[in-house]
Amino acid sequence: MIVRAAWVFPIDAPALADGAVHIRDGRIEWVRPWSAVSAEDRAGAADLGGVALLPGLVNPHAHLELSCYAGQLAPGPLWTWLAGLLKLRESPDRVEREAQGVRDGAAQALLHGTTCIGDISRTGSAWRSLVDSPIRAVCFAELLTLAAAPPRDVDELIDALREVPQHDRLIAGISAHAPYTVPAAAIAESIALAARMERPWCAHWAETREEVAFLSGMSSALPPPIAALAAAAGIGGHAASPVAVLEQALERAFGADVDGRRRARAFVGALAHCNYLDREDIARLARLALTVVYCPRAHEFYGHEAHPLPLLLEAGVRVALGTDSLAAAPSMSLLQEARHVWRRVARGRHSVLLHPERLLRMITLDAARALRLDDRIGSLRAGKQADLAAFPISPDCAPGDALEAARLLIEAAPPACGVWVDGVRVH
Ligand SMILES: [Zn+2]
Repeated sequence: MIVRAAWVFPIDAPALADGAVHIRDGRIEWVRPWSAVSAEDRAGAADLGGVALLPGLVNPHAHLELSCYAGQLAPGPLWTWLAGLLKLRESPDRVEREAQGVRDGAAQALLHGTTCIGDISRTGSAWRSLVDSPIRAVCFAELLTLAAAPPRDVDELIDALREVPQHDRLIAGISAHAPYTVPAAAIAESIALAARMERPWCAHWAETREEVAFLSGMSSALPPPIAALAAAAGIGGHAASPVAVLEQALERAFGADVDGRRRARAFVGALAHCNYLDREDIARLARLALTVVYCPRAHEFYGHEAHPLPLLLEAGVRVALGTDSLAAAPSMSLLQEARHVWRRVARGRHSVLLHPERLLRMITLDAARALRLDDRIGSLRAGKQADLAAFPISPDCAPGDALEAARLLIEAAPPACGVWVDGVRVH
């Protein structure tokens, strides 16, 4: 199958005005300008017309099971939100409602052009709702020692991983919730496990000022109920900055010798949020292969201070965008997340580091890297899986101006008009 589009954004190569993509057996065969397509190939091509064709968008940080609580929690600090969420989750029909939430959230993500989602499930059952979905998913089993339900330790985490019936589009990932809810030794074990099993890994990191203060040694910084649970679980006593705590976990996982340090630097995974990192921590983070996942609209919902995105990019840290859950973000649209950054952080002005094409990379290839899937998806390149998303694009775009085309796409942030996973049209 050959598809032609007014714009093709391969992401890891320059955008093509009037381009074409050849899909065969679920993979991309080639990407080229329409002018270079042979007469024979042109005859069978499907012309999508005035659309921008991108690799399917990748959302590396979601909690789909919380989709059923959309609109039920007021904007405000994370801790207030969390208390409200725990109350909502006491409902007797929680399991069915959250399973439906996973299906609804995944369906909404697909409509917005997301073909791969990194989903963290506290119930550990989201995969049941995703196993037959056309969306590609990394289902993260989440280690959370302070929780009432498993997985609370690494053995329970391994049990949860075993439950997920992996297939081509479904991968079981490993998540350690956060450094204030999981003991340092267990975080290190989760990292070692992910490296050994070659699985995606993620954690929430430096999300609140209180967490950062807690890690620095102020055990009273967390809200009292959480502080009491953390103390009972023996979590704390780090007396270090967030990235120093991370480095300690990596050293524990891989060892402090030359080979261990090399493996620590090469460890691929995702750190959700990183809302509160200073310059020194950012410089240390830049030496690692982890990707920061910034969730712009959820960040605003929780009323955090300005995100250090410009400093992270300046230091060379890879940053991807995610949505977080629908209990905090208004939709599953990654283009709308990119628009939020464009309007509020970039303030609509290109810079060398933050411009519309870079934002498209943050919701495709960089996000795929966060999920350890960048060799399979995230860009339109020969040999990769044919996950694609087409979006209507304004006819006002000056011909040949790719940056302007990307800007118009982000400003409009429309739902997708066509979505393919493994070369199969699913929307
Ligand atoms: Zn999260």
